[in-house]
Amino acid sequence: MTRTVYVNGEYLPEGEAKVSIFDRGFLFADAVYEVTSVLDGKLIDFEGHAVRLDRSLKELDMASPCSKEELLEIHRKLVELNGIEEGLVYLQVSRGSDGDRDFVFPSEDTPPSLVLFTQNKPGLADSPAAAKGAKIISIEDIRWGRRDIKTVQLLYPSMGKMMAKKAGCDDAWLIEDGYVTEGTSNNAYYVKNGKIVTRPLSNDILHGITRAAVLRLAEEAQMEIEERLFTIDEAKAADEAFTTSASAFVMPVVEIDGVALGDGTPGPIAKRLREIYLEESRKKAV
Ligand code: PMP
Repeated sequence: MTRTVYVNGEYLPEGEAKVSIFDRGFLFADAVYEVTSVLDGKLIDFEGHAVRLDRSLKELDMASPCSKEELLEIHRKLVELNGIEEGLVYLQVSRGSDGDRDFVFPSEDTPPSLVLFTQNKPGLADSPAAAKGAKIISIEDIRWGRRDIKTVQLLYPSMGKMMAKKAGCDDAWLIEDGYVTEGTSNNAYYVKNGKIVTRPLSNDILHGITRAAVLRLAEEAQMEIEERLFTIDEAKAADEAFTTSASAFVMPVVEIDGVALGDGTPGPIAKRLREIYLEESRKKAV
């Protein structure tokens, strides 16, 4: 089946969808995005993603391409047209193009570009990777200072994943001024003596939608949470660790820089949080 994608008001076969070569997303990474997961053919945490998209757009003085209701309708229509039971919906809004390359933003009446496509991922929830747990390396965080805005400037995170792959690992955690910021595409946590430790929200990290949900659920389950800066050495000495993201939910971490955590298998708290998160998310999916 040819994938149907959405581009600026039209639903088209993926091979026919086009964006200008002058689009600022392409030339300047002047674009923001969201990734929403799909389980049982329904959208997980749609509201959170829509609210964060709005915030990213406002922070960059970028016009909103459409209303939240229209966005929901486009998401649902793509999921239906492509028969997605488990997978992802990728959405990108760029500042568009006024037909040339210029560092200066185009005039305010230039329409933003809106592109959405689905990714079919059968087995996303019941993932063998999550059952095994992730091995991570730590690398320096050299990204720009507004990581709270979900821009498409993903070159360094891509390079981080490649460094991890080269080292025989699955992902990388980023270190700035001696403290872990987050993973290349996820928020980072460790657990010691039953307490969950994670970095507090600031412009240094993306305000994960999954992070918000998982911390709420952990609190409801009477788990102890501490939001503070932490070092990679603390994480290496932890009983367990994990990451959260919309595309991998709660992912146990079993090894950091070659050091096995606990017995080197996914820890009980990470496993429990994954279960609770999936269960709750399915109930609330739209
Ligand atoms: N941090 C970074 C750098 C990310 O790219 C992501 C995922 N896009 C996250 C955290 C997790 O955010 P969310 O739970 O909203 O997917």
